[in-house]
Amino acid sequence: MIKSPRGTSDVLPPESAKWIYLEGVVREVARRYNFDEIRLPTFEHSELFSRTVGETTDIVEKEMYTFKDKTGRDLTLRPEGTAGVARAFLEHGMAGGPLPRKLYYLGPMFRYEKPQAGRYREHRQFGVEVFGSPSPHSDVEVITLAMDIADELGLTGTELVLNSIGCPKCRGEYKEALVAHLVPRFDELCSDCRSRLKRNPLRALDCKNEGCKLLVAGAPASLDYLCDDCREHWDRLRLILTSVGIPYSVDKSLVRGIDYYTRTVFELKWPPLGAAGNTVCGGGRYDGLIEQLGGPPVPGVGFGMGLERMLLASEKGEKPIKTGGEIDLFIVAPKAKDGQAEDADLQARTLDLARRVRKRGLTCDFDPLQRSMKAQMKQADRMNARFVVILGEEELRTNSVAVRSMRDGWQKTVPLEDVFTVVGEAVRNG
Ligand code: ATP
Ligand code: MG
Repeated sequence: MIKSPRGTSDVLPPESAKWIYLEGVVREVARRYNFDEIRLPTFEHSELFSRTVGETTDIVEKEMYTFKDKTGRDLTLRPEGTAGVARAFLEHGMAGGPLPRKLYYLGPMFRYEKPQAGRYREHRQFGVEVFGSPSPHSDVEVITLAMDIADELGLTGTELVLNSIGCPKCRGEYKEALVAHLVPRFDELCSDCRSRLKRNPLRALDCKNEGCKLLVAGAPASLDYLCDDCREHWDRLRLILTSVGIPYSVDKSLVRGIDYYTRTVFELKWPPLGAAGNTVCGGGRYDGLIEQLGGPPVPGVGFGMGLERMLLASEKGEKPIKTGGEIDLFIVAPKAKDGQAEDADLQARTLDLARRVRKRGLTCDFDPLQRSMKAQMKQADRMNARFVVILGEEELRTNSVAVRSMRDGWQKTVPLEDVFTVVGEAVRNG
């Protein structure tokens, strides 16, 4: 039997209903913040990621699904969203304004990682990007957007963790200090960190190797090396957060596994998920990204949110997403006893009634196999139908139907034309 590839998953009903709800929440919060959706390809030229995410990052070195297409193009299934949005931003001349431009995306990302709870090879992210605003107010805006989603999903106790990793101007001196700290301990570093030390020493700060974690614990912090402009941005950011009453903690060793970040980096954590995968959202500023892709200098800030983790969290939170799992009306229409003509008429009437009910916005179903009355009542039960309408030969003759409330137990006979009002009103009144 063929199974789904390792690290991927099928979303079946009723779970899929939770996804629809979750996606509705993130879209709705994005709408309130006046972000517009951008829809992009799921694969890009590999070079896009090596140039932005960074040649020496785990993502590019180890986690990308890269392949050649039939004419030898070097392509990669996107491992993250920002690079593609930046590419499209430039390609479609959005850098020419109006700015700031606020965009969001939603969709699958692909990373060759060791699958475990909250970590998959295909996962879904919601992400937002603000292009063209250097202001720390924009940092705070995207942070609160992420927090509002968490609130909406009933995740109390999310923790905001912040750091500033400076800009290319201040990073030179910082890198030197970091390398000076690590060189004497070179032999204790993992092979990745050793090979990256010259080209990209910052990566050691993000290394998952236990030995490296200990070594970098005492390393110099970027916060202590910020240039005046980065320091001012950092101070203002914290001032704004305080003035709007958003608690945060500073983690001097927080870096993200992507090279394009400058200044602010942040994570939103939800501790009950457990240390291995409690970061539900990660983001920061990428003021050099558009320039790096050959565009004009356009600052940016955004985040990516792991939707599987948000769903896992919501399950454990105070407002688990309901799956619905009920329908408004089931039409019971068992086979007519005498002859095919009546049967065909009954089926046509059932279809027609169902369609009219559906056009009024109600969920309605019936049994296309026309099994026995008892079997159909069972189906209505299984589907959690709130109302059942019984349509039989007698009803056809009198042009009236029996409506039964499955919740309250009442049953009444009403003219066919009144079904919509009776059921519709009852549904609307809860
Ligand atoms: P981590 O440190 O957990 O590996 P990351 O730094 O690789 O995360 P980002 O690249 O910033 O994460 O991605 C943004 C968010 O996407 C993460 O905070 C997380 O919620 C989610 N995410 C990342 N990788 C995976 C994955 N393999 N499976 C499920 N969700 C993921
Ligand atoms: Mg990762």
